[in-house]
Amino acid sequence: MVEIDGSQGEGGGQVLRTSLALSMVTGRPFRIVNIRAGRKKPGLMRQHLTSVNAAVEVCQAQVKGNSIGSQEVEFTPGTVKPGNYHFSVGTAGSTTLVCQTVLPALMIASAPSTLVLEGGTHNPFAPPFDYLKQVFAPIVEQMGPKLDLNIEEYGFYPAGGGKVEIGIVPKNSLAPINLLEKGEIVSQRGEVLFAHLPDDIALRELKVVGKRIAIEENNLNPRKITRSPGPGNMVAVILESERVTEIFTEFGKRGVRAERVAEKACEQALKYLAAEVPVGIHLADQLLVPMALAGGGCFRTLKPDLHTLTNIDVIQKFIEVSFEVKQESDSVWEIVVQR
Ligand code: ATP
Repeated sequence: MVEIDGSQGEGGGQVLRTSLALSMVTGRPFRIVNIRAGRKKPGLMRQHLTSVNAAVEVCQAQVKGNSIGSQEVEFTPGTVKPGNYHFSVGTAGSTTLVCQTVLPALMIASAPSTLVLEGGTHNPFAPPFDYLKQVFAPIVEQMGPKLDLNIEEYGFYPAGGGKVEIGIVPKNSLAPINLLEKGEIVSQRGEVLFAHLPDDIALRELKVVGKRIAIEENNLNPRKITRSPGPGNMVAVILESERVTEIFTEFGKRGVRAERVAEKACEQALKYLAAEVPVGIHLADQLLVPMALAGGGCFRTLKPDLHTLTNIDVIQKFIEVSFEVKQESDSVWEIVVQR
């Protein structure tokens, strides 16, 4: 039994999700205590509980402690069964994080799967759907599996009500990849999603993005979302390079000026551009599980955050793999994964 302390490092939901994902893949049972001890409301929230229950269903696991607020879970995986699954978070909790939990097992399974996920699709502190589709999925595809991501309904926090469908054609062994350079920049775009809010907000945000990142007007796109139960606003700076696409997002909040929201998205993008690395701060922690499963790979990124460092520790509890985290300059780090 692998013993996991959920309070380690970042002390958030990712410790649980990575444990579930790798337990499913390796067949190793685990017990996690102090779940999300680093958060204001510790224990399982709806998104985490949905992730646990989804993992149980996909690999026919035995589980204890799968209830709201629980700070301890014991998980004994069975056999991974590819197939058609439907999981509903029931709140605006992130569907992309539920996907992050079961995708590793399904993308190396013996047959294709389809996931229909309901809940939040565009949440702060989680990969927005567009990020999963345009940033994460193309990299996973370079490793072998094929992913087809579609959104039917948009779910913004706090209303939720989003719906996505993800088709997965697996590849039983993943190819290691190297992402040391991003190559030439192919396009720079600004996009604003806005649902049930005045057009003016999007136009003000795009004006800031255009000016700060020097993006021409025809690459500034206001996307009015009608298929969303609740209101929502997301600013995205999309930087497409030859080897990788990165997206920097910020969500509109009541009481925060639209210009400030756009500024914050631009600040992230400018930091990434200045470092001239291919992998941004969020992609860094999300690439670790696929790379560990591939048994190798490397990438250049910004200074790793606590999510990345914690994920490295959790992965090593399940898989014999080494990670080297090397600082190359003030703003550039290289992470090398080896079996
Ligand atoms: P908790 O509620 O415990 O904070 P959580 O389950 O919401 O936890 P975290 O442990 O904080 O999740 O992990 C969040 C995940 O979402 C990380 O993989 C992080 O890289 C990713 N993420 C957060 N913000 C973004 C963003 N703007 N773009 C892409 N990915 C993001």
